[in-house]
Amino acid sequence: MRRVIAIDGPSGAGKSTVARAIAQELGFDYLDTGALYRAIGLHLVRSGVDEDATDERVAAALGPARVEFMRGKVFLNGSDVSDEIRTPEAGHYASVFSAREPVREFLLDIQRDAALKSDLVAEGRDMTTVVFPDAFIKIYLDASAEERARRRTLELLAKGFAVDEDRIRQEIRERDERDSTRAVAPLRRADDALHIDSSGCGKEEVLRKALDIIRGRS
Ligand code: C5P
Repeated sequence: MRRVIAIDGPSGAGKSTVARAIAQELGFDYLDTGALYRAIGLHLVRSGVDEDATDERVAAALGPARVEFMRGKVFLNGSDVSDEIRTPEAGHYASVFSAREPVREFLLDIQRDAALKSDLVAEGRDMTTVVFPDAFIKIYLDASAEERARRRTLELLAKGFAVDEDRIRQEIRERDERDSTRAVAPLRRADDALHIDSSGCGKEEVLRKALDIIRGRS
């Protein structure tokens, strides 16, 4: 395995922005694991799998699924789903199905394999705890629910979705609850992860804090 910088945190904490910037700065690859869960959620919905389907049904539907990253795009079974997985609905299904054991098991090797090819900045909910417990840098990036809802609302508005900030705040709280209380790979801060609170910080400041941590360790 090559060097891995693992970043976890709740929705809207700014993980993808900072992870992408670190990867660019250090010449590492960037792994957006939320995109994998979103693509698999889409695959399951398209396969007619209900939220309350049995694990056996979920596992059977995952059999033929193929998720790949190519040139910054996400492909599901050979088709580019990069835009489709960014809808609020796809976020909901990703959150629901990511709590299922067969889904987490299915994506585990895909994520670990990414670190065989190149140095990696990987971000998600269980990078520091389950997928890359031996990562050489572990960061837990957080921000207040208020601020995360504001950022997510602006992001979705910029993409042309009609969204309401109160509704987004509510969804963020529900997603936090689901992500941190699920039985498999819940979101939590690893004991050896360094904490960055991005509330009230600009992107540059968060990046500077993260790079300080990385350079201090290297
Ligand atoms: O990060 P993003 O919002 O794109 O992730 C979508 C959903 O996928 C999250 O709400 C979370 O439930 C799930 N996820 C996960 N483990 C990861 C990455 C994402 O459970 N490593």
